[in-house]
Parts: sequence; C-alpha cells; structure tokens
Amino acid sequence: AQLALPGIRGLQPYQAGKPIEELERELGVTDIVKLASNENPLGVSPKVAQALQEKIAGLARYPDANGFYLKSALAEKYGVQPEQITLGNGSNDVLELLARTYVSAENEVIFAQHAFVVYPLVTKAIGATPIAVPAKDYGHDLDAMLAAVTERTRMIFIANPNNPTGTFLTADALYGFLQQVPSHVLVVLDEAYYEYVEAAERAPSIEWIAEFPNLVVSRTFSKAYGLAGLRAGYAITHPAVADLMNRIRQPFNMNELALTAAMAALADEDFLQRSVQVNCEGMAQLVAFCEQQGLNYIPSHGNFLTIEVGDDAEGLYQKLLHKGVIVRPVTGYELPRHLRVSIGLRSENQAFIDAMVAIANEA
Ligand code: PMP
Repeated sequence: AQLALPGIRGLQPYQAGKPIEELERELGVTDIVKLASNENPLGVSPKVAQALQEKIAGLARYPDANGFYLKSALAEKYGVQPEQITLGNGSNDVLELLARTYVSAENEVIFAQHAFVVYPLVTKAIGATPIAVPAKDYGHDLDAMLAAVTERTRMIFIANPNNPTGTFLTADALYGFLQQVPSHVLVVLDEAYYEYVEAAERAPSIEWIAEFPNLVVSRTFSKAYGLAGLRAGYAITHPAVADLMNRIRQPFNMNELALTAAMAALADEDFLQRSVQVNCEGMAQLVAFCEQQGLNYIPSHGNFLTIEVGDDAEGLYQKLLHKGVIVRPVTGYELPRHLRVSIGLRSENQAFIDAMVAIANEA
C-alpha cells in the first residue's frame, strides 16, 4: 500500500449495495423494491431488447472502436459534428477521461458540496487538489465557485440537475457563469438527468460550446434511456477536446451491446417519453406523501427525491431495508439527516410510502 500514489491511498471505495438476491436471502424477504440507484423503473425498452438479441451472434468480433453509427446518430440528434463526441463506458468513464486529459497533480478541481461523488474521486485519483465549495440551498453557489478559481484551477464540475440533491441551475445562471470562467478552466456540465428536466427549462448547453470552447457537456443512457447495466455515456465538446480525450481512451471502451442498445434507445422516443411521464407521476406521488406527512424534501429535477427524515436517517434506512425497500443514505454527501429515494413505478413508490407509515406507527 505504501507504494500507491498518495491521492489513491486516501480514497474510499465506491459504496455499492449487495446484489438484490443476496439481500433477499439475508433479510428473509422476497420482492425487494429497489429505489436506490436512480434507475429506470420501466426496465429496458422492448426495441432495445430486440436489437440486443440480434447482436449476440456477432459478439466474437471486437466492437467498432470509433462508435461510428452511435456518434452519427447523436451528432444528427444534437446538431453537432461526430468529431465533437467522445463515447464512454457510462458517463463516469468520460468524466474520468476528462480529468486524466486535463488535470495534473499540481492542479485544483472545483465542485460543489453535496455534488456527485465521482468528481472528488477522479480528482483525488490523479493526486490533484479537490476544492468543494459550500452549497447554497443544497445546490451550486456559482458565485462562490467562481471566487474559488485560481491560477491552478483546471476544471469545474457542475451537475445539472445535481445528484443526490436534485437541485437545478437555470440557463440564465449557467450562461452568466460561463461568461466569467477564465479560459484556462474547463467547465464540465454533467447532464446525466437532462431528459427529466422540462423542455422549457433546459439550457441550450450543447449550442453554447461554439461560444465557449472550454465547455464540456456529458450525458448518459443510464437514466431515462434505461441502460444503466450496459454502461453507455458520452461527452459533447469542442472537436479539439474530443481529439485529446480520444488519444487516451481505451479503444473499445464502449462494448458492442452497449453501442447497439444506445442506438436503439435513441430511436425509441416513445419509451423515453413514457419514462419521463412515469417519473413525473411518481415524483408527484412522493412529494404529496412528504407534504402530507410534513417531511421536508429538496425539490428535485431528477428521477429521485431527497427527503429530510431526521437524526436517525441510517436507522430508518435499516428499518426500510427490513421491510424490503432499499433507498440510499447520503451521509457520505454531508447530508446525514436525509435519505435519497429513486422514483419507481406507482406500486414501488407506494411500497416505500407504506413502509414509512408502518415504521412511524411502530415508533
Ligand atoms: N453524473 C451524475 C450526476 C450521476 O448521478 C450519475 C449516476 N449516478 C452519473 C453521472 C454517472 O452515470 P453513468 O456512469 O451510469 O452514466
């Protein structure tokens, strides 16, 4: 261990849950409801399943290292050039590629308190200095983040909406921010939950790249497109940024099934719309429950709701687990009084609500 880089020795491994089947065995419950990882409760689109089936026979071959068809489809959809796209094994992969391309041990990387855990992770892995700027109303304090920029700053991560808080920055706020960020700093705008944001509220982030070549937009197929298990994400950038990222990218970092599924998912607008609709209804269901119970929650633009449950969030998490409902404690995000609940199907949300009511009645 002494031989490892200092930044790596100080890291904590990503806290992943146990396999569901294992948990069911341990707890003696069946039909666990998992509302813990912001996944799509509708599962995989039937069109994706069909496309995957057809690919199986060809899996002895390497995938297309350049993701030609997927990049073409994304370029067409977003009105950019394929040369502006970098594909990743999930969007986490492109976030890491960005850090490895631009950040060295001498640099500082800025992100917000309560922001997505992968930002400090990729920063520390390089041995760079993470600068966590205190949040404002659980969200990004853009003025404070600007004030934190120094000569050594190389990257600013912004999650919009943010996970685990669900907070959201308006297009005006972001645009004003981008105008003030010095050109030696790359702004990584992580839009993993973009598809859940109401169309009228979305920032034209990809269009802004022409004006701000230091802007990177990352997106994923893990959430609204329902492909978390396959790992498919991408960054849209100035072509020069994509060129550099592609020099260090592993040639086959998106596998053939992920490429195929992403193509099919992109073409299935109906499934996407249904996913967003189910999320909208489920969000209303959970918000109504919180309002009725007098529970504070952080208004969310994502596919999850982070609820203030009191001093013993960890204890409540355990009790919910024993009733067969998995949610996510967010203590590691400096939110020790909250639990994050992913939006599920109506019946799954109801299982969470029923478990909460039952636990309250037991107290
Ligand atoms: N960014 C944010 C804000 C996220 O919440 C997540 C998923 N938890 C990701 C990126 C990464 O998702 P993936 O690697 O599955 O694309």
